[in-house]
Amino acid sequence: MSEATVLIVEDEKDIRELLAFSLEREEFTVVQADNGVTALGLAKLKRPDIILLDLMLPGMDGLSVCRQLQKEPETADIPIIMLTAKGEEVDRIVGLELGAADYIVKPFSLREVSLRIRAVLKRGGAPAKPAVLRCGPISCDVSSHTVLVDETPVDLTVTEFRLLEDLLRNQGKVRNREQILTTVWGHSFEGYSRTVDTHVRRLRAKLGAGAERIETIRGIGYRAKG
Ligand code: CA
Repeated sequence: MSEATVLIVEDEKDIRELLAFSLEREEFTVVQADNGVTALGLAKLKRPDIILLDLMLPGMDGLSVCRQLQKEPETADIPIIMLTAKGEEVDRIVGLELGAADYIVKPFSLREVSLRIRAVLKRGGAPAKPAVLRCGPISCDVSSHTVLVDETPVDLTVTEFRLLEDLLRNQGKVRNREQILTTVWGHSFEGYSRTVDTHVRRLRAKLGAGAERIETIRGIGYRAKG
């Protein structure tokens, strides 16, 4: 039985075919497009369950395709995972509040792609999560990717935002570094624990009066104080 239909929109043939091969091996049905216009047509025709959309496409770029997909009633509900090569472009996607379900930074591992696809598909079937997470003076609006501390906007990177979102969704519970790595970075390779600490430090520095809400649990990880 087929898992789900994935539309891959990527102009680089090698990457597209590698993705297609790997997803088909995992029982996904794959539809491919090498440009934005074809992608829009196929999205309407095939009604994929999810779209992997490259940001840098010739002609119509990924952002325009994303915007167009969300404008059309037939395709507005299809979750989109953006494929991007650079961090600053990711920030731009979030800044424009395009509502992509997730993003993957190149170069990616095929395992990461399949994990993210499954995570997004799973989320789609679950009841809606609260759009605004609150913790003391911190308010985190997941749909618009904005964070306020005492009503003042705080500028976070995508990773810092994901980290904060993960802690707030699990408010009151201790999150170990492995759990945080899996949710925020999509993997939990050993040796990356310090990455978590570094990002928590940066996050706290930006949160100002909200920083004390992020507790360090010695030897384990972190917790958002409810
Ligand atoms: Ca490309």
